[in-house]
Amino acid sequence: MAKKYHSYSDIKSGLQSGDVTVEQLVKQYLQQINTNTHLNVFNEVFGDEALAQAKALDVRLKNNEPVGKLAGMVIGIKDNICYKDHKVTASSKILENFTSIYSATIVERLLAEDAIIIGRCNCDEFAMGASNENSYFGPVKNFADETRVGGGSSGGSAVAVQAGMCHAAIGTDTGGSVRQPASFCGVIGLKPTYGRISRHGIISYASSFDQVGPITQSVEDAALLLEVMAGPDEYDATLANQPVPAANELKPEARQKRIAYLQEALTSPGVDADVKGTLSTYIDKLRADGHIVKPISFELLDYLVPTYYILAMAEASSNLARYDGVHYGYRSPNATDLVSTYKKSRYEGFGKEVKRRIMLGTFVLSAGYYDAYYAKAQRVRRLIQDKTNEILNDFDFILTPTAPEPAFALGLKEKDPVVTYLYDIFTVQASLAGLPAISLPAGNNGKGLPLGLQLLTKKFGETELLNFSEYFLKL
Ligand code: GLN
Repeated sequence: MAKKYHSYSDIKSGLQSGDVTVEQLVKQYLQQINTNTHLNVFNEVFGDEALAQAKALDVRLKNNEPVGKLAGMVIGIKDNICYKDHKVTASSKILENFTSIYSATIVERLLAEDAIIIGRCNCDEFAMGASNENSYFGPVKNFADETRVGGGSSGGSAVAVQAGMCHAAIGTDTGGSVRQPASFCGVIGLKPTYGRISRHGIISYASSFDQVGPITQSVEDAALLLEVMAGPDEYDATLANQPVPAANELKPEARQKRIAYLQEALTSPGVDADVKGTLSTYIDKLRADGHIVKPISFELLDYLVPTYYILAMAEASSNLARYDGVHYGYRSPNATDLVSTYKKSRYEGFGKEVKRRIMLGTFVLSAGYYDAYYAKAQRVRRLIQDKTNEILNDFDFILTPTAPEPAFALGLKEKDPVVTYLYDIFTVQASLAGLPAISLPAGNNGKGLPLGLQLLTKKFGETELLNFSEYFLKL
């Protein structure tokens, strides 16, 4: 493989000095994709299209015509993001042959800045999962160890960046799906504040949590992609009118910070020894550098995962009602009337985990159980938000591992869904509270498996988060 560019600014200088062309970059990524098809990273590669776009861009660059902020950035998008006239499946049989009739707002914004989309990345079906093993198209394998998962649900997006199949990728994060695969793959994953990036054209899973996020090799690129994608959109009423952080203002922030770390992450038997080791190494480094680093106990820790799953499943059951075999998507050939069209199309079109969640979600919303589960979970969510914000009044950041273990073996956790759900313990707090959080690579476990740490901060605190992340990676 030719030179691997760590950040987009390197690519930009390479393009300016004539060291590389966009066409060469695209060819290099395509070669890397083609020699690693067994990793199952892409559901579809837009090879010819990407090459044609690259050639056209090279001509514009050669003629010194103005180009966008992302000219020469080649990205993969998770296969739950609509791109006009391209297929989008959410890695589900029910959408296997569905073609987008419009583009997501983020896709329009990326293309307007001359990014090239090289393909759609495998993911867990409807983004439900933490290992990418729930994909109708099969699991994604980790580039660092092919017997292990790439994480999920944006597993394809993370491995694509890890394996040099594109420069950066876009994922979605409902309860950790950008951050956790990023940590399993040794790359950076940012989940912005809820309300920062438009969800228009993203296939909904749980709408009060879903958020788009970049997966990159550098903090600088995360900042740049955030800047391009963020900001109000008339098609998503949940977007805030907050100023969007500008990537060129990114400064490694080393002023003294107050950092809380979750004590249980160092003491709980459920957390892997190497993960604990990395966390304590970073705590020591931060203290040695003059920061105030204090342990905290989050009193609602045991409620995070149940609250998240009750609400996410309830929202999913409602969002996925649209796949009825009538409007679009898979229709069972065995159906005989309207009701059997609904039943058979859904039964045959959805995978096991998606059906489990639709049933549980319907259950927690049903008369007689609504108050006991759904309404109660809503109240607990508010408490979690309040308590988390209280901590963030005293501290700048909360530091935790991103996941309790490094990437686990394929097939290992499939049998017991609850085991996989518990895996989200560190990521769902930011999702429940709507806060921005980032997963940063923090070395590996000695067997070559990447480890990741997570920083979480106040609403719309992305600039501070990214500045501190830039510094953190240099520790
Ligand atoms: N693992 C979590 C779930 O299955 C998170 C998934 C996501 O963020 N899309 O719900």
